Amino acid sequence: MSDRPVCDYEGSTYQNTFWEKGGRAYEDAVERIALRKLLPLKGTRLLEIGAGAGRLTNELLGYQQVVLTDYSSTQLEQARQRLGNSPQFKYVAANVYALPFAPALFDAASMVRVIHHLVDVPAALVQVREVLTPGATYLLEFANKQNLKAIARWLSGQQKWNPFSRGAVEFVALNFDFHPQDIQNWLEKADFRVGHRRTVSHYRMNLLKLAIPTDFLVWLDSWAQPTGDWWQVTPSVFVQAIANGMPAPAPQNPNQFWRCPTCRSLDMVETPEAVHCQHCGKVWEIRDGIYLFK
Ligand SMILES: [Zn+2]
Repeated sequence: MSDRPVCDYEGSTYQNTFWEKGGRAYEDAVERIALRKLLPLKGTRLLEIGAGAGRLTNELLGYQQVVLTDYSSTQLEQARQRLGNSPQFKYVAANVYALPFAPALFDAASMVRVIHHLVDVPAALVQVREVLTPGATYLLEFANKQNLKAIARWLSGQQKWNPFSRGAVEFVALNFDFHPQDIQNWLEKADFRVGHRRTVSHYRMNLLKLAIPTDFLVWLDSWAQPTGDWWQVTPSVFVQAIANGMPAPAPQNPNQFWRCPTCRSLDMVETPEAVHCQHCGKVWEIRDGIYLFK
């Protein structure tokens, strides 16, 4: 497994306090627009990494199967209550540094508002690439250190770190802002190429959000998003990464679905109660419809 520290939302009311009562209708709407533009909306199997309570999952219903993963099983329990027990969904508590899936199982993946919690992005990207087919689209959102607010604060001397310098900045423990070029380099090293980029939340300022109707602000943002192909000065950036190689379909009925997160064996047997690793003997419990792989 992995000994890297993980930001854990176990028991968190984040969905309720941050999204539903936090005045973030604007952020939610502009993120959905970017997702629809960058991710194919149909496919065989999509992996949602850090799905949380499933806020964005209803954008992904064109996939035959959506596998929601999160480090926190209580977040997944909220998602399950929202989405139900349809065979279209699987709920998997797992660590992004040790994904419990067979190679090339997915033809798409999304990871929104997750990477800013990762201490070792390159290691996570290697894991993601491994479970994707060649040609798969991976939608990655990251928090951008080179945003207008940070630039203004730096120029006026209110902030010590330089938003144009490379390297991540940890503004709160386990919360990182990244440089867009670092993200691109890491993706390329992990065997992805970068397609389009969309800058998101151009107008994330409380004054604007209070003064201007949300729908109009969302409309303005949707027009500004494609400039992300040329420059990125918003707090949030969506990247369309494509897995290198000759495009291949994801298997409809895979012989191998699970991979042991401990010993990496593909020799796994699923029963109604658990997934059993035939190699190291570990038993991964299925509790209330949630696979527990951590
Ligand atoms: Zn094992």
